[in-house]
Amino acid sequence: MIRAKTFKIEGIVQSVGFRPFIYRLAKEHNLKGEVLNEGAYVHIIIEGEEENIKNFSDDISFKAPPISRITKISEVNVEVKNFKEFAILKSSAQGNSKTSVSISPDIAICEDCLAEMMNKKDRRFEFPFINCTNCGPRYTIIENIPYDRPYTSMKHFKMCEKCLEEYKNPENRRFHAEPNSCHVCGPKLTLLDKNKNIIETNEPIEKTVQLLKQGYITAVKGIGGFHLAADAENEETAALLRERKKRKDKPFAVMSYDIKKIEKYAYINDSEEKIINSFQRPALLLEKKIPNILSELISPKNKYIGVMLPYAPLHYLLLKDFTALIMTSGNKSGAPIVTDNEKAFKELGNIADYFLIHNRDIYIGCDDSVVKTAGSKTVFIRRSRGYVPSPVFLKKEYKNDILACGGELKNTICFIKENNAFLSQHIGDVENLASFDFFEKTVNHLKHMLSAEPKAVAFDMHPEYLSSKYAMKLENIEKIPVQHHHAHIVSCMAENMIDEPVIGVSLDGAGYGTDGAVWGGEIITAYPHKFERAAHLSYLPMPGGAAAVKEPWRMAVSSLYKTFGEEFLNLDIPFLKNKNKKDIELILEMISKNINSPNTSSMGRFFDAAAAIIGIRDKISFEGQAAMELEMLAEYETEDTYEYERIDREICEISIEPIIKGIISDLKKHADISHISAKFHSTVIKAFSETAEKIREKSGINIAALSGGVFQNSLLLSGFSKALKSKDFKVITHNLTPSNDGGLSLGQAVIAAEILKNKN
Ligand code: ZN
Ligand code: ZN
Ligand code: FE
Repeated sequence: MIRAKTFKIEGIVQSVGFRPFIYRLAKEHNLKGEVLNEGAYVHIIIEGEEENIKNFSDDISFKAPPISRITKISEVNVEVKNFKEFAILKSSAQGNSKTSVSISPDIAICEDCLAEMMNKKDRRFEFPFINCTNCGPRYTIIENIPYDRPYTSMKHFKMCEKCLEEYKNPENRRFHAEPNSCHVCGPKLTLLDKNKNIIETNEPIEKTVQLLKQGYITAVKGIGGFHLAADAENEETAALLRERKKRKDKPFAVMSYDIKKIEKYAYINDSEEKIINSFQRPALLLEKKIPNILSELISPKNKYIGVMLPYAPLHYLLLKDFTALIMTSGNKSGAPIVTDNEKAFKELGNIADYFLIHNRDIYIGCDDSVVKTAGSKTVFIRRSRGYVPSPVFLKKEYKNDILACGGELKNTICFIKENNAFLSQHIGDVENLASFDFFEKTVNHLKHMLSAEPKAVAFDMHPEYLSSKYAMKLENIEKIPVQHHHAHIVSCMAENMIDEPVIGVSLDGAGYGTDGAVWGGEIITAYPHKFERAAHLSYLPMPGGAAAVKEPWRMAVSSLYKTFGEEFLNLDIPFLKNKNKKDIELILEMISKNINSPNTSSMGRFFDAAAAIIGIRDKISFEGQAAMELEMLAEYETEDTYEYERIDREICEISIEPIIKGIISDLKKHADISHISAKFHSTVIKAFSETAEKIREKSGINIAALSGGVFQNSLLLSGFSKALKSKDFKVITHNLTPSNDGGLSLGQAVIAAEILKNKN
């Protein structure tokens, strides 16, 4: 008997070759009907034998295209209409605006396209914009939904006959591949010098390779924006790039043609190979081989190097003859990644010698993602291109849409729709007008793409963050300020689908506390909608506020003064020998007179203090640098610890004095500084995990959540997990979003959603 059914499929099902997949599946099972994109989801009507419909239904999730992600399938029996064939219909923009839209992220070139591009006989031989339904740009070129060519930046390119044929043929890999094009009809590359003079050549790629070989820095327009490319083996070019970009030490990422080339300069194991090869193609931190054949200036004083495989077809064409190219985001220091050709010359003209541009617009900038591994797990440092805007799935479905504005540094924003949390791409440090513009653009862009109508806006309690000020100015929306570390912990809970209370260990750089102090070495008992502070690192004055972040030696003075009083000036330690007495006196005066010296319990600042005292670094040029170098120095885990002291009161306090005393005593004994560093790590782990145990006694809570920027430190993350597990805690950590402020917006959004839910 012939029956009819409709299917509504939700998730990442548009722009990923889903309709042709359904078309082929229907044919395979001898079914008639139709399929179309409707608003956010895929709608199917199917007619045929009951048995065939059942098999078809089973196959949908089983055989779905690799880059799709189905979150929900609903089936309904309907009346038979006697379809004559199976057809793919034009998209309809209608559909329920309440339904979550899932737009595909940008996807690295697939193997089929790569093979065609390298095949001399293929009509797309060396075509730098080759793509198909299984690969190519998406998020960065979409202006509107549904995902159709007129709503992408490919609308300016009229398909040639051959391309159109492929596009229209459901049996073809390029059926409805919206960016489909070829040498004849597609985007074109142009090579220019920094004064916008076109370099006349028929082979702009080959010419670019020559220029890179000669040591020139070239701005290359890619998928989510411009890269600054330079030969990674050329020491002089690397130095020049650092100088021109005004970026002293912060690591650059590199890109290599394949794993074999990567193995020339870095170690890579099987699980790392899987991650670096995934369609998201993040930059993955790998351990450098010694001696280092690439320029040491790429990631100075760092055991690791961030490595990517090519993801745009163009990258493959550029990379063949290099061991690796430096591929760092093309931006002016402090400004967002450049996406626009005109802007590129304006903002990168002082950095790049040449510009390899193209005429396909990028609608929204998207930096490369950065990850590392912990065992077989992925640890996010930056979740951006390749992952965004795929949602993080939540345990609960929320009635109201929510917007969360994130923090200040490494900002991302987040929308909640139903049980999906859509985090944005990396926006950057929202500290100036340029980055604030990008922030605002991203909020509006995502809001539009998701048809979100937020009932509430969540933001950091810090009244001076531009993202918070933005939120407070919004009209007709409920405003929910969120404490920074509560947001960190709830982001960890949310991605782990935990909604029962946890003991949250939040070790962090800085977050505005409810008492106005700068928090950051915290244990809280956290619920999705509220929290209580349970313990913290004892307060230290931060002489000069922001200046103390940039100059760790100030925190060293502050902690030495707190531990020894003025007596510390008589200590026989190297740190004091190369310091100007006057500078120290100035800091002491600031502390004693309480001039611009806010109190902080920040673990990041405590790491800074330790790093400066043992002589690693007095000043930093990027966030977390001193702490990172302390981690690199430690190299191993030790059971050896310094004494610590905890003052048990309503809110426990872990005092720093015994730890500082321990370090000084080791320094006097001329102990190996890498051992001091390892011991410092193990002391922090011991102090906080024992305190967590104490809090468990009082609260009965047995889940421990680890979050905050300091947990980017692998030694701490693994050490804490181990210590807490050995105390029979259930430990949750981040695997889908960063533990740093890049994950903050997720926590804020869930907190706001929960508060709103409890009100209604
Ligand atoms: Zn492809
Ligand atoms: Zn064509
Ligand atoms: Fe933070």
